[in-house]
Amino acid sequence: MTLDYNSLLMALAVSTTCLAVTLLGSWFARRAETFLLTGTLGLTLIIAGIVVYGLYVDDPKTAFAVASFVLFHAGFAALWGAGSQFLTGTLPRTATVACALAAMLVSIPPMLAGYDGLGFIAENIAIAAMLFGTAHHYWRARAEAPAPLMGITALYCLTATSFVLCAGVLIADGKMVLGAAPSNWAEDFSIAISIASMTGIGALSLALHQWRLAARHRLDAITDPLTGLLNRRALFDRHGHGAMGATTAVLIFDLDHFKSINDTFGHAGGDRVLKVFAAELAANCRAGDIAARLGGEEFALVLNETMPGRAELVAERIRRAFAKRDVYLDDETLNCTVSVGVAPGLSTPLDFDAMLSAADKALYAAKRAGRNRIELASHLHAVPAGAVRTGS
Ligand code: GH3
Ligand code: MG
Ligand code: MG
Repeated sequence: MTLDYNSLLMALAVSTTCLAVTLLGSWFARRAETFLLTGTLGLTLIIAGIVVYGLYVDDPKTAFAVASFVLFHAGFAALWGAGSQFLTGTLPRTATVACALAAMLVSIPPMLAGYDGLGFIAENIAIAAMLFGTAHHYWRARAEAPAPLMGITALYCLTATSFVLCAGVLIADGKMVLGAAPSNWAEDFSIAISIASMTGIGALSLALHQWRLAARHRLDAITDPLTGLLNRRALFDRHGHGAMGATTAVLIFDLDHFKSINDTFGHAGGDRVLKVFAAELAANCRAGDIAARLGGEEFALVLNETMPGRAELVAERIRRAFAKRDVYLDDETLNCTVSVGVAPGLSTPLDFDAMLSAADKALYAAKRAGRNRIELASHLHAVPAGAVRTGS
C-alpha cells in the first residue's frame, strides 16, 4: 500500500514537473508574461513538497510533515498569486505572502502539538481554498480566451474539490491523532485528480499561450509601432468598404515643414514630434472616432455619429492645441504646426476613397494658403458610393 501510494506521489511529482517546464518554456518565449515565472516558482515549491511528503509517508516524523506543509502552502499561494498576476498584470506580493502564512498558521501548530489529524484537515482545507481562489482568477479572465481559461478554471476547481473530500473523510473519521500519513480512498482519488489536472492545465496553458501570441500578432498587424495609433491598413480594413453618410467626416492632417524638423534635429527628433502629435490626436478622439497614421507625417481622423459643423471644430481644436504644444528637442523648445483637410459628411453617401481624396485636396489647399490652417472640402461633388471618380 505504502509503495502504491509513493508511486502515485512520484507520478504526481512528474506531472507537476512537466507543468513547471511547460510554464517556464512559455515564459522564455514571452518574457513579458511574468505570471508564468511566478507559476513555475509555485510548482517548484509544490514538487519539493511532494518529495518531502513522500519521506513523511515512509517515516512519519513531524519535521517532514511540517516541512511539506511549508512548501505546499508557499507553492499553492504562489499559484494563487500567478492567477492574480495573469488577471491584473501585477503580482499581489503582500496578499500572496499573507495567504501562505495564514495557511501555515492554521495547519502547522496542531501538527507541532501532536494533533496531526487536525493538522491534515487544516492543510487540506487551506489548499482547497487557495485552489478555488486561483480558479476564480482564471474565471474572471475568461473573456480573453474562453475555452482554455474555462478549462483551467474547471481543473483547478476539480483539484480543490478533491482536497475538500480529503478533509471531509478525515473529519468523518474524527481522529485527531493519526500517527502516520492519512491513507484512505479520498487521498488516492485526490492524487489521481491532481495528476490529471496538472497534465490538463499544462496542455491548456500552452493553448492559452498560443491564443495570447495570436492576439498580440493581430494587434501588431493593425498598429503603427511609433505612435500606437491604428495603421493605414487597419483604417482601410474598417472603412474601405461601404459608404459614408451625413454623420461621418474624414480629416487628414499633415505636419508642416516636417522635413526641416528632421534635417535640424535628426530622425529621432522628428519621431518625437510625430508621437506628440499622435497623442494630441488621440486625446481629441471620442469613443467611436478612429485616429490612424496614414504614413510619414500624415494622419487621418474619422469622426462617426457627428453633427454638422463638428468636424471643423475638432480640426481647429487639434490644430490650435498642437501649435501651442512645446516640444523639447536637444535643449531647444520647438513649436510645430499642422495643416488639416476636412471632408464633412454629405447627405449623399460617398465611399471612403472619395472622402479621403476630398480631404486630401482640401489639405493641399490649406498648404497652398500658407499652412497651419484648416480647409474644408467645399468642392465635394456628390458622387454616389461605388461610382468611379474621374478626378477634377
Ligand atoms: P509640408 O509642409 O509641405 O508638408 O512639408 P514637409 O516637409 O512636411 O513634407 P515633405 O513631404 O517634404 O517631408 C516629409 C518628411 O517626413 C520626409 C520624410 O523623410 C519624413 N518622414 C517620413 N516618415 C518618417 C518617420 O517615420 N519619422 C521621421 N522622423 N520622419 C519621417
Ligand atoms: Mg506629407
Ligand atoms: Mg508635411
